[in-house]
Amino acid sequence: MKECIICRKETKRDDFSVEHVIPEALGGNYTIKSVCRECNSFLGKRIDSGLVNNLFSDIMRYKKQLPGKTGKIPTPLSGVFKDQANRNIKVRIKYSTNNEIIHEVLPIPQMEKDKNGNIKNILISCNEHNISNKDECIEKLLKRHDLYKEKTGITSIEKELLPHHTTQTHEINWGKIAIGLLKIAYEFTVNQITEYYGSCDARMISKILLNNDLSSAYNAMQKDPIIGIDKKTYNIHWVTLGCFDQRLHCHIAIDELFDTFFIMSNQCYEIDKDISLFNFIGKNYEIRIGQ
Ligand SMILES: [Zn+2]
Repeated sequence: MKECIICRKETKRDDFSVEHVIPEALGGNYTIKSVCRECNSFLGKRIDSGLVNNLFSDIMRYKKQLPGKTGKIPTPLSGVFKDQANRNIKVRIKYSTNNEIIHEVLPIPQMEKDKNGNIKNILISCNEHNISNKDECIEKLLKRHDLYKEKTGITSIEKELLPHHTTQTHEINWGKIAIGLLKIAYEFTVNQITEYYGSCDARMISKILLNNDLSSAYNAMQKDPIIGIDKKTYNIHWVTLGCFDQRLHCHIAIDELFDTFFIMSNQCYEIDKDISLFNFIGKNYEIRIGQ
């Protein structure tokens, strides 16, 4: 029997499974074996998911082509949206085979009628991504609307080349991101400092995790966790435990996305040099002391 570091229940040794401290879907490869199967499944579904499934992480996973559990790589921002300048025009955002983002204007026809109500003109919106099959699009659209150029007296069929801008709104739940980061800090600290596990601080954090207590996790975070997706890509996640102001700090940086720290304890557990995890995304990891 041994104790699971999350639920703190005595559990049979066979009932422990491999836990990725930094979620595997983010390219994490540092693992521990002190979490029971039940908690491992709970952490994956309830705690890691908020850190993995948000717009920022999706963009990172897309850029680095990191698949999730289902083997799929996210395609953030994709879908059909209205053009900002002309709400009648729809733009499909998709990905090319070279993984470039494409804005394709959907060929929706707008009809111009004369004073007798006859259609005299059809305006079809397109851009460089569907202009090559413009004639085919027009044919299809005419057929779909049961229209034939000869019968309707249409004088011309024009195309419109448009600049296109779409707006999307995404909500970010910082509590969910905070608890995902706190889990990383807790598991790393417990794994590196044996005496820490029995402390009141450690008990409090395992309780926050077990209760999925987002507001406590958010309040424990010591600074705004975002440093922006434009920052230089490191291809590294790192976690550093160190003593500062007589307190044990755990600093976490998830690649170029999230960067924050937690105060793990008001004592330093005789750490005289920083202990750092360098997790090279999708490759390997190193634990370095004093660097
Ligand atoms: Zn457990």
